Amino acid sequence: MNDKIAKLLNEQINKEFYSAYLYLDIANFYDSLDLDGYANYYTIQAQEERDHALLFMKYMQNNGLKVTFEAIGKPDKEFNSVLDPLLVAAEHERYVTSLINDIYHAAHEGKDYRTMKFLDWFVDEQMEEEDNADSMVSRYKLFGSDPKGLYSLDQEYGQRIYTAPSLVL
Ligand code: MG
Repeated sequence: MNDKIAKLLNEQINKEFYSAYLYLDIANFYDSLDLDGYANYYTIQAQEERDHALLFMKYMQNNGLKVTFEAIGKPDKEFNSVLDPLLVAAEHERYVTSLINDIYHAAHEGKDYRTMKFLDWFVDEQMEEEDNADSMVSRYKLFGSDPKGLYSLDQEYGQRIYTAPSLVL
């Protein structure tokens, strides 16, 4: 594996931990509004991001690559409405997709078919993440301005339970 790909994989571990941090920040914001369902949803989302970080770490370990941890960035988004974090999350997932695509591109250029195959799972995952994030925005816009609508959205997001990733290394 070439150094460029190894560097991008190592950076992705940090980016996934940052995503977890961002989603916990969002969970804290919703908790402060007593929207416990939304808080639950993003707490579980953070667990998923931590899982992603561990998958990148395991993949590097399995390939005999040195893993280097860097400082995780401070989540510095400002939230002033129930909608704000949903928009931030949707934008963030598109950014993460672009990161996965960049690693995929480097793997393709480096004829690193093993890394491309590993990343396929993340390509599919990002489609789902973007779809879910966009749907949370549109459902809030449709139902969230009505208190009963917001209450039932919050109830629904409170039902989300953690499931381990389908990719096992
Ligand atoms: Mg992720």
